[in-house]
Amino acid sequence: MKQTHLFTKTRREAPKDEVAKNAQLLIRAGYINKEMAGVYSYLPLGLRVLNKIVGIIREEMNGIGGQEVSLTALQDKATWEKTNRWNDEVVDNWFKTELKNGTELGLGFTHEEPLTQLMKDHIRSFRDLPVAAYQFQTKFRNEARAKSGIMRGREFLMKDLYSFNLDETTHADFYEKAKQAYIRIFDRVGLGAQTYVTFASGGSFSKYSHEFQTLTDAGEDLIYIHEGKKIAVNKEVLNDEVLADLGIKREELVEKKAVEVGNIFSLGTRFSDALGLVYSNTEGKPVPVVMGSYGIGPGRLMGTIVETYGDDKGLVWPVAVAPFAVHLVALFDKEGKVKPIADGLYEKLTKQGVEVLYDDRDATAGEKFGDSDLIGIPVRYTISAKTIAEDSVEKKDRLTGKVEMVKIADVM
Ligand code: ATP
Ligand code: MG
Repeated sequence: MKQTHLFTKTRREAPKDEVAKNAQLLIRAGYINKEMAGVYSYLPLGLRVLNKIVGIIREEMNGIGGQEVSLTALQDKATWEKTNRWNDEVVDNWFKTELKNGTELGLGFTHEEPLTQLMKDHIRSFRDLPVAAYQFQTKFRNEARAKSGIMRGREFLMKDLYSFNLDETTHADFYEKAKQAYIRIFDRVGLGAQTYVTFASGGSFSKYSHEFQTLTDAGEDLIYIHEGKKIAVNKEVLNDEVLADLGIKREELVEKKAVEVGNIFSLGTRFSDALGLVYSNTEGKPVPVVMGSYGIGPGRLMGTIVETYGDDKGLVWPVAVAPFAVHLVALFDKEGKVKPIADGLYEKLTKQGVEVLYDDRDATAGEKFGDSDLIGIPVRYTISAKTIAEDSVEKKDRLTGKVEMVKIADVM
C-alpha cells in the first residue's frame, strides 16, 4: 500500500482523556479511533493487525476441530431466564434494549445460552458428539471502568469456542487440546515468554479454570508466578489447598501484575441441564451434554502486544501480527533519481507477495522517520540518493534498532 493512498494521519497527541498506553499509541499512529470511553473503531492499519491475530486464532481453532459460526448480538430474554443470567443481580454488565412493542432484548456479553439452545436442534444421539463450535463476534459489556484502552472495551471482539462432549473424560481430553492450542496462539503472536497458564476459580463444576495471563503493568489482575514450572495462581484462589494441588510452595511464587488474555472453563452440565440439551445414549436413555467454553479477546491481545513491545518512539510489532512486513521509506531527491528506483522496488516486492507499506509522500526525512517509528513495522528500508549511489537501501530493525546496508538486488 502506498502511504499517499492511506487515509489515516499520524498525530502528535492522543486525546487528553486517554490514559492507556496502548490506546494512546494506536490512536497517534492512526490504527484506531476513540468514539467514546471503552468504544474504539478499527482503521485500516489497526484492522490489518486485528485480522492477523484473528487468522492465527482461527487456524488453531480449526486445528482442534472447531467449526466456525456467527451468532447474533441480539439476545432472547426467555433463553437467558432459564439459566437465571437475565437477572441484573447475577450479571452486572448487561446492555439491554427493547423492541417498539416493549419486548426486552439483550446485547450478548457471551453466548453459552443461545448456542446451547441452538444445539438442541442438532445434537440428538451419542453419534452426534463431540461438537466444537466457535465464532469471532462482537460482545457488549457495560464495564464499570473502561480505562485500559482496547484491553477493556464496552464493545469488543471475542473469539468464543464452546465444546459439547459425551462425558467428563472426553471433555477433559478436548479441554487439554484447547489448552495446548491456546499456548500455541500466545507463542505465535509473540507473547509466549510473558504468558502464564494460571489457575483460577472454576465455578461450581470444576475445581479450577485456566486463565492465560500476560505479565504487564497495564494488567488489572494480580497473579503469583512459579518460574520453574511456568505456571501461575490467580490471587483470587491462592490458598494452601491450591499450593498442595500444584505441588508448589508459597515462597517459590512471585507476585506480578498481569492481564487475562484468554480463559478456558469446564461448564459441566450447568447449561445443558438448564436448557435441556440431552443426547440419547446407546441404551436410548437421555443424558445431559458436558460442555466447556474457551474465550480470547483479539483486541485485548492486540492491546497487550502494544503494552509489551511499544517504546518511547511508538509501536513495535512482532512479525506475525504486523500490519505490513516492510516499511519502504523513500527520501526523494530534486534530480528525480530515487523515485523510479523506489517505485520499482515497491512493485517488485508487492508482486512477490511481500506486504509493503511504501512511504511515497512528499515529506521531510524527519517526518517520515518519526511516522515510521510510530507505526512500528518490523523492518524499514530507507532508499535515498545516498543509498542508491551504493545500489543499496538502508535496513533498520524496529525492535533492535540494528542498521545495515543491503544491496537493492539482495533485498528480495
Ligand atoms: P475480565 O476478568 O478481565 O473482565 P472476563 O473474565 O470477564 O475478563 P471472559 O468472560 O473470560 O472475560 O472473556 C473471555 C476473553 O475475552 C477474556 O479472556 C479477554 O481476553 C476478553 N475480554 C473480556 N472482557 C473484555 C473487554 N471488556 N474488552 C476486551 N476484551 C475482553
Ligand atoms: Mg475471567
